[in-house]
Amino acid sequence: MRDLEKLALIGLLPPARFAMISLQFLGAAREVTGSMHLLTVGGHRLLLDCGLIQGPRKTSFERNRAFPVVARDIDAVVLSHAHIDHSGRLPLLVKGGYRGHIFCTSATRDLCAYMLPDAGHLQELDVSYRNKRRAAQGRPVMDPLYTLEDAIAVMPQLRTVELGQNFSPIPGVTVHFINAGHILGAASVILDIEDEGRQVRLGFSGDIGRWSQPILRDPEIPADLDYLIMEGTYGNRSHEGTGEAREVLRQTVEDVWRQRGRLIIPAFAVGRTQEIVYRLNELSETGQLPPIRCYVDSPLAVNATEVFRLHPECYDQQMLMALAKDPDHDPLSFKGLRYVREVETSKLLNTTEEPVVIISASGMCEGGRVLHHLKHSLGDVRNTVMFVGFQAEGTLGRAIADGQAQVRIYGEEIRVRATVKVVSGYSAHADRAELLRWGSTAAQQSKLQRSFLVHGEPEPLFALAAALREEGLQHVEIPEPGQVFPL
Ligand SMILES: [Zn+2]
Repeated sequence: MRDLEKLALIGLLPPARFAMISLQFLGAAREVTGSMHLLTVGGHRLLLDCGLIQGPRKTSFERNRAFPVVARDIDAVVLSHAHIDHSGRLPLLVKGGYRGHIFCTSATRDLCAYMLPDAGHLQELDVSYRNKRRAAQGRPVMDPLYTLEDAIAVMPQLRTVELGQNFSPIPGVTVHFINAGHILGAASVILDIEDEGRQVRLGFSGDIGRWSQPILRDPEIPADLDYLIMEGTYGNRSHEGTGEAREVLRQTVEDVWRQRGRLIIPAFAVGRTQEIVYRLNELSETGQLPPIRCYVDSPLAVNATEVFRLHPECYDQQMLMALAKDPDHDPLSFKGLRYVREVETSKLLNTTEEPVVIISASGMCEGGRVLHHLKHSLGDVRNTVMFVGFQAEGTLGRAIADGQAQVRIYGEEIRVRATVKVVSGYSAHADRAELLRWGSTAAQQSKLQRSFLVHGEPEPLFALAAALREEGLQHVEIPEPGQVFPL
């Protein structure tokens, strides 16, 4: 079988030729972004996620452009959640000729309606910036990976399915979603596969969230699986407790207020931003927030916050009870907080002498308005940059978080004099203990034949695999990019 696997790997033999059910890991294999897995059943092809590879601009542009499958050969797509590293290559798939359905929850659809066009717009901006330099050097200009228009073209192909509802994306496969507890609308995907009388259940975790987080319900753990694809982003790390993370935020805001500096929080527009706002709101309600102005400076985050308000079906009991008591209860706003859409207001924030808190995207500082705020703030000792989300290797965010003394932003070298803090307690991802809880419970409730760890850098994945084996899981694999497994 290994030789056949190798042939399939280099594209000489389609997976369906040697196994009626097969799984190929096309993205997020031994890395964190670009989630994409191909399930083939009886010659029909189902794509699980179609995410953008994020990282250093130049290399990720080339890697994203080399789409790993022929778009027209795909029969259906199932999307676990809206984050761009899971959904951001859909415009390329549709641009390449894919005309089938893309199944997701309604909250995911509503988030995608903002996030995909935003991604298209960012791709256009990025290329226009690079083209100016290329033109000046007499080099040919390049096309964007995809445009705003390409992203909008995806929307008619989205089909919404709620948690627990069965649907059949390709013949022989019945799917339902369970709650992943990661971001609004995020699901784990359970696939019941039937092929020539053989029944197999495959679970795909998507991104696993956390227990006892505000607003969203806790993750659900699948049962009766034969195969499992599981994420391992934080397979070797523990997050601080909620109380500790809250105290760091309180203390940091107070320090910045006293020093009349600014606190810049780079955050994913969806998930982290709302959680930070929720925590600031808590501090405000309990009288622990100084009278500092707070801004969410990201049009996408503003829109995403509106989508949160439209999906009470995703709320946890605590949030529902708070709403029942006071229908106007809004944990995503408080006195002193302002959501900023306009570019002009965003620019004004860079010139203000007042102490401020600015939450802005992108979370890994590879684009977006946060770059301007960092450019204006990193050089001043009174300021603090606080990282609250995962920083992938090779990104500007990772360089600053790792303590690099000098960074380059928009062609300018900037000495980092601001205080840099990394707080993991606000992560939307399960930490090591939570992943182990999820994985070992899924295994206890199943007769797993094989598990595949994805969505993590090699070190955390190997650490998680070792820990899961200790919990009794057998045949835990860490697939290489492109690797094929018959099921
Ligand atoms: Zn995610």
